[in-house]
Amino acid sequence: MKQLASLCERVASTTKKLEKTALVADYLKSRTTEEAATAAVFLSGKPFPAWEETTLNVGGALLWRIVSELSGRPETELTAAYRQHGDLGAVARGVLPARNLERDLSIVEIQRSFRQIAAARGPAMKGPLVRDLFTQVPPLEAKYIIKIMTGDLRIGLKESLVEEAIATAYGGPLAAVQRANMMLGDIGRTLELAAAGKLAEASMRMFHPVGFMLASPAESAEEALSYFQEPMVEDKYDGIRAQAHCSGGEVRIFSRTRDDITGSFPELPDVLAGLPESVILDGEIVAWSYLSAEPNEPGRALPFSALQQRLGRKKVTQEMLRKVPVAYLVFDILYAGDQLLIEHPLRERAKILDELLAAPRVQVALRSAEPQGLLGFDPQESPTRAQLIRAPVFRASSPEELNRLFDGAQARGNEGLMLKDPELPYTPGRRGRSWLKMKRQLATLDVVVTAVEYGHGKRIGVLSDYTFAVWDGDRLVNIGKAYSGLTDAEIAEMTKWFLGHALEDQGLRLAVEPKIVLEVAFNNMMRSDRHNSGYALRFPRIVRLRPDKLPEEADTLDLARQIYARQGKA
Ligand code: AMP
Repeated sequence: MKQLASLCERVASTTKKLEKTALVADYLKSRTTEEAATAAVFLSGKPFPAWEETTLNVGGALLWRIVSELSGRPETELTAAYRQHGDLGAVARGVLPARNLERDLSIVEIQRSFRQIAAARGPAMKGPLVRDLFTQVPPLEAKYIIKIMTGDLRIGLKESLVEEAIATAYGGPLAAVQRANMMLGDIGRTLELAAAGKLAEASMRMFHPVGFMLASPAESAEEALSYFQEPMVEDKYDGIRAQAHCSGGEVRIFSRTRDDITGSFPELPDVLAGLPESVILDGEIVAWSYLSAEPNEPGRALPFSALQQRLGRKKVTQEMLRKVPVAYLVFDILYAGDQLLIEHPLRERAKILDELLAAPRVQVALRSAEPQGLLGFDPQESPTRAQLIRAPVFRASSPEELNRLFDGAQARGNEGLMLKDPELPYTPGRRGRSWLKMKRQLATLDVVVTAVEYGHGKRIGVLSDYTFAVWDGDRLVNIGKAYSGLTDAEIAEMTKWFLGHALEDQGLRLAVEPKIVLEVAFNNMMRSDRHNSGYALRFPRIVRLRPDKLPEEADTLDLARQIYARQGKA
């Protein structure tokens, strides 16, 4: 880790891109391939490859506590350093004690330790692992470990520059590196291929999963339409993402974590094997109900809880197949015939997919998979074959149309909508703005701010993170914490107000007079011992300030409990 930390310092000290890539390329060449591959991931500012979607789930508060304890410095000193740098890594470098260490931990060992931290549950289990890691490295290394853990390296190095460095280090054409990284969603694996001179060869192989394209959230129809004018709109189905590779009668299905899940859906290969050419399809497997079908509908998707009964079983019994039939709702095609399609715009891929599934031969094969006499059909006798369905695509160009589609999707029991830019390619392993998801908003609550914290990044020096509470009798109990969704001007004004109404200065955090009422929206609720209400809102967002409400008029824990109970039934 020593060399990587000193490389980061050198990269940070120059603003010239060419110099940065040259430094990184030299470093990569000097390491073993395994180390260089892990370094490429870290240098892209991530603890794990993009496709893995493993998260450390170590919050800033826990890191802060550990750095503070290990430093033995007074809280005021740390707070002052944080206000100056706005970066916990830089603070750690300044305050952690220099240690006499026997050896330098390798970055492969550090990633192993990240994996243990990711697998541990809750701060109580994660804390000791993080602390242990920090005691095994000098302060400079700790600085960069923290930056990697928080996903913010801030040395002016984007993943695209790491791609350039790989091309320079191993002599592959940059376009081939970019392409391989795009397909694999794994810059480390890309580096391994570049080092072995196999970029082109391994970029697309049947029966090897390609990275999945991911979506970013949009909070409202207006926000969604600000990214593109006429999105292709599909229902957001609540099942599991599945990439199907079909060729020469053979079929393999991969999950988002790239596991082979063909065995969990033994009825799907039968249907997919009937496709006339080699294809890679992308879609969602859902539990399917034939019973709620409208006259012209093949049925409808059931919530994830129905599908869950089928997952994680070693053997799927015939009874299970009948009790929980599934459908594969296909919404994209990445490969057909001999052609890789990911670089084509979605508009073209959609057309190819429509044509593939509409081909008479395929239609015959698909129809034979449907239960006989759809209406009046007896679930006990239900087929053990699956449905293969082209996910319907809608168009919308105004917020009103989009909201109508959203209501329709929810009425069909789906989670919300997916909005996709028709002009853009399929970017494996990436979460970008070319796909957006609009999900159900469970409810909003009016809450009272009880504590505030200084933000980081561009929010250094302003109080932008709010902890908020609801009433439990005449006591306020905390139920969540949100980064402010307010405007910069509102945040500045609130900062002034909070500084004038602090009850207790806890360093980075101020307990404040419970006077400010906010309306917060959230996606769901969970039980949690993080807050003294016993609940936590998931993905809370501040909708607006409610200066028109007195704190006494904020919502109660009883109401929150009702929302929680309703969610359980949904
Ligand atoms: P989330 O899991 O909330 O990040 O939402 C992204 C997931 O939505 C994807 O990984 C898919 O599993 C799922 N999904 C459901 N319907 C669609 C659709 N029509 N297009 C793309 N993804 C979808």
